[in-house]
Amino acid sequence: MQTLTHWIDGKPYHADGARHGDIYNPATGEVAAQVPFATAEDVDRAVSAAREAFLSWRSQSLSRRTRILFAFRHLLEAHTEDLVRVVSREHGKVLDDARGEVARGREVVEYACGIPTLLKSEFNENVSTMVDSYGIRQPLGVCVGITPFNFPVMVPMWMYPLAIACGNTFVLKPSEKDPSASLLQAELFSQAGLPEGVFNVVHGDREAVDALLTHPDVKAVSFVGSTPIARHIYETSTRQGKRVQALGGAKNHALVLPDASMDFVADQITSAAYGSAGERCMAISTVVAVGDAADPLVEKLRQRAEALSVGDGLEPDSQMGPLVTREHRDRVAGYVDAGVEEGATLVVDGRGLRVQGREDGFFLGPCLFDNVTTDMSIYKDEIFGPVLVVLRVGNYDEGIELINRNPYGNGTAIFTNDGGAARMFQHEVQAGMVGVNVPIPVPMAYHSFGGWKDSLFGDLHIHGPEGIRFYTRGKLLTTRWPDPHERGIDLGFPVSQ
Ligand code: NAD
Repeated sequence: MQTLTHWIDGKPYHADGARHGDIYNPATGEVAAQVPFATAEDVDRAVSAAREAFLSWRSQSLSRRTRILFAFRHLLEAHTEDLVRVVSREHGKVLDDARGEVARGREVVEYACGIPTLLKSEFNENVSTMVDSYGIRQPLGVCVGITPFNFPVMVPMWMYPLAIACGNTFVLKPSEKDPSASLLQAELFSQAGLPEGVFNVVHGDREAVDALLTHPDVKAVSFVGSTPIARHIYETSTRQGKRVQALGGAKNHALVLPDASMDFVADQITSAAYGSAGERCMAISTVVAVGDAADPLVEKLRQRAEALSVGDGLEPDSQMGPLVTREHRDRVAGYVDAGVEEGATLVVDGRGLRVQGREDGFFLGPCLFDNVTTDMSIYKDEIFGPVLVVLRVGNYDEGIELINRNPYGNGTAIFTNDGGAARMFQHEVQAGMVGVNVPIPVPMAYHSFGGWKDSLFGDLHIHGPEGIRFYTRGKLLTTRWPDPHERGIDLGFPVSQ
């Protein structure tokens, strides 16, 4: 049985006698490897390596940092298929989907390659006579990333390339469910010439996370995961005086107006609901169908859901893979049971699905509910699986009111051919990322990603310009080069002369 290592100070680190977790192949249900869980001492070792490395990394020239990032980007491209297979094997998602995640992660590295431009500052000559002012942005120190299972390449890359480009050093605590991709990233970054200690990986569970959140040398924490844990991360880290951005869970609604082109809508929503088996924070999990849209849309969604091919993510013909663990599959199936008991109409039932030759895999077929109401658990909770729920409303106003009442506010979308309605929606809807006829409006690397309400705790969104702000702090310089003969004492508060 293979046992993973941590990655500390530029090399693998074997921790003695640590607690371990099992890593599954979700398509077969077998334990594929084990991951060590870091203790507080292991965490301290990683943070100390990062603190030492910061002393010189912060002063490396922008050109040197950029050259390393370019080399890393090149290696990521060359090793795309290695990353894709590692992701698919441990997460379960299909190969094309994993390729998409690797590409979107690499785009953040490409954005970070522009760090000399991104860190350019502003200068005012003569703010007072012969006095100039300019601002610079400096790195914070040791930054930490704590990431979820559903994007083991992309989500860490939302964080560390920018943090490191800004001159910080980094400790990543990836999900213990699919941690191998983070080690491959660390190895490639090292091959690209990154100095030892600048990027470190520690594995583990709450013990490791809490050791990071309370470590005095950690200056900033980026978190992506479920809302209860995001709240815990935010509260614990801010109490310790750290800078935090904690992105939480989601329940993304698509509002479908009757004038929309229903075949287009059904294709888009099917892809957004069942892609990655619904294990995406930007998945559309809720359809709000307005008036006459509902009947034809539900029928078209049914046809598409029933036609999806579910299988091992490593098989090229599979469109949807298994769920990440047995417990998670059972939890999602439990929601389907609850939906039936609560009185919703189960239009497509994926609970009976068996994948030939993969009978012990963590599979669940696509599920579709109609006539769902806001008091049902299948509406209220984030299910994070291949379960799409349809709610029916009479008009646009009822629809927007329903969406805005939901405590989550990550992504949302409207489907319509009416530009006025779309504009009203973009103005009124309470969510951080909005699509117009685009079901998964994930911002590109050069914009910032983040939700509202219970989908994000903190002020700044992740990557893009807000990422640069998050990983730096401002310093404002006021300078004068006086005439050596200049004299005069003035106890008044300085004003511009
Ligand atoms: P999770 O919250 O269970 O775990 C996320 C991270 O927190 C992992 O590294 C995990 O080890 C750690 N963790 C878990 N329990 C902890 C505890 N009690 N104390 C400290 N740390 C703990 O999330 P997950 O199941 O890995 O991922 C799915 C969730 O992530 C979903 O809710 C999804 O919506 C969310 N997500 C959000 C975004 C976003 O951008 N908003 C993106 C991806 C995933």
